[in-house]
Amino acid sequence: MSTGAMRRAQLVTPFGVGAMSVLVNGTSVITAGLDHWYEPDDASSLALEEYQEHDWRLEARLRVSEFRLPPDYRYQGQGNDNRNVKLTVPVLRFPRWCFCMFCKRLELSTLTMQQAVVCKDKKHAHWKYKPRMSQVPFVAVCADGHLDDFPFDKWVHRAHRPSCNGTLRLKSLGGGGLEGQRVVCDGCQKERTLRGITEARFVNGEEHTNLSDQLSSPGDPYLCTGARPWLAELDGACGQPMRGALRAAGNVYFPKVESSIYLPREEGAVSAEMHDLMRHPAVSTTMRTLHSIFGSGLDVEMLRAQLLKNVPPELFGPMSDEELIAGYRDLLGVGEDEPESGEDSDTELLTGDDEWRYPEFQHIRETPKDDHLTATNPGIHPDLDRHLERVRSVDVLRETRALRGFTRVRDDVLKLSAGKALLRREPLPPVQDWLPAYVVKGEGIYFELDPARLAAWETRAEVQARAHKITDHYGQVTSQRGLQNRALTPRFVLLHTLGHLLINELVFACGYSSASLRERLYVSTTAGREMAGLLVYTAAGDSEGTMGGLVRMARPDNLRSVFASAISDARWCSTDPVCMDAGEKGQGPDSCNLAACHGCALLPETSCEEFNRFLDRGLVVGTFADPALGYFSTFA
Ligand SMILES: [Zn+2]
Ligand SMILES: [Zn+2]
Ligand SMILES: [Zn+2]
Ligand SMILES: [Zn+2]
Ligand SMILES: [Zn+2]
Repeated sequence: MSTGAMRRAQLVTPFGVGAMSVLVNGTSVITAGLDHWYEPDDASSLALEEYQEHDWRLEARLRVSEFRLPPDYRYQGQGNDNRNVKLTVPVLRFPRWCFCMFCKRLELSTLTMQQAVVCKDKKHAHWKYKPRMSQVPFVAVCADGHLDDFPFDKWVHRAHRPSCNGTLRLKSLGGGGLEGQRVVCDGCQKERTLRGITEARFVNGEEHTNLSDQLSSPGDPYLCTGARPWLAELDGACGQPMRGALRAAGNVYFPKVESSIYLPREEGAVSAEMHDLMRHPAVSTTMRTLHSIFGSGLDVEMLRAQLLKNVPPELFGPMSDEELIAGYRDLLGVGEDEPESGEDSDTELLTGDDEWRYPEFQHIRETPKDDHLTATNPGIHPDLDRHLERVRSVDVLRETRALRGFTRVRDDVLKLSAGKALLRREPLPPVQDWLPAYVVKGEGIYFELDPARLAAWETRAEVQARAHKITDHYGQVTSQRGLQNRALTPRFVLLHTLGHLLINELVFACGYSSASLRERLYVSTTAGREMAGLLVYTAAGDSEGTMGGLVRMARPDNLRSVFASAISDARWCSTDPVCMDAGEKGQGPDSCNLAACHGCALLPETSCEEFNRFLDRGLVVGTFADPALGYFSTFA
């Protein structure tokens, strides 16, 4: 089956490997693992180089040798060019349980079934056209990322291996809740509602779910069997409690996406022509082979000779020694300092964002000039220069977003190898490994807060107390769910909220769709890595950014008016005084926002790095009770 016209970027996220989606014909499917991506019917038509992408820092961080764009579906070739025609990302039918709208019969279909499932119940024996069955909205998930069909047969019979195999029906007693859904067995007349199947709680730090404990009895819990239907594997090793979920529920899939702004190893060294040349697989393969033999000691004559031998000469225009060697270094990361792999080898946990982002911060705040990263200094308007330290118009940037795994049940930490193990059946060695990704060429506005003003502001007791409320609220959530806690600093909440306010203003002033702009926070108070910067950039998945529109807004007059409108709007929310008052006890997702709601400071999910949490207008412009609280309180 094919995904049809799903947008390519969506096949990285939100509909990447292991995610469920609904096709235009109504079939619910799950995006299949990476093992069988890029397998056209006619293997000779595959031209993988069209999809290969590189970002040396992200490759090192995720221990892969390349990234691959999801294929775009083309029905036919252009002229004689039949490369990659009809290439699709494989999907499987899931959930397997189907039911009949007319007789309510439940039937277990298969993952690979292509035709619609029709009801074979004898109630329709005389119907000319048998009714088509629909898939049930229920699934079962475990916290280790597994996903299974809801065990209707076991649930109604209260047994792990029911001896009765009577026909099951899913009847609705009316009412919207799960208690109104009843599973009935024609064979033994047993019946049971679905009440409570999604519920769970922690008892002494151990998770208990109703589905596991009450399917038969708490002493004999029904546990996960490790099903990974997206890999076509219905059995595996697990033993975690299982919980029921609606397949469209928010806790069924949390993609882990790592994003990187491309940083040149050596600024400007790799020309556009060299970047193009390196997209040819013969070039990268030759370079990798040479690297495995000679490493950084490779002589440029040898490189040139081998490339001429392996690459069609028409591709190989005039290229200086410096360009060739720079391309080689850029691809393989030779010379200079090797990138930190970004992992602790014991735990394989990725380093914190501040450590990973610090080199980006160091580059963007200067005025880099490279084919893939260019920033210039537009100057700062006098009205803003007490608050801002520097502004950059980022004329060119290149972002890679790669899917490295996912979690279910909660948005938890995920080890690198555990994430990869969920994406494919057969692990690949790092030299062959790849992850699905998409690449956006865009532009942005970058600015930093004034360090002296920031230092004076963030040491104020009332400022710290305000941010501490958010840390506290978040702490309650993390301890309940067994997640890692984190300290939300005043500068973090300030820059984050400011980012939202500015994006809303840019949307209003320039007519961007809000989903096309994204925030990127460069915030840290760690010694030696202090950052207080924010990048707002274009993030349109398949397009080429906005071609200069955003960069124009970085000019002093324009930026001043964007700031002025954003700050002035932030002083009053359409739901005030309710929104500002809510700041006392918190509101929004997990009560992790203070004065911030849909009326003032929230963004589309795709624009925000923090799921619209950790926001507060109070720290930006002050509160009704303490108008001087905000960093921008005195900005007119
Ligand atoms: Zn039927
Ligand atoms: Zn029965
Ligand atoms: Zn499991
Ligand atoms: Zn509000
Ligand atoms: Zn955000």
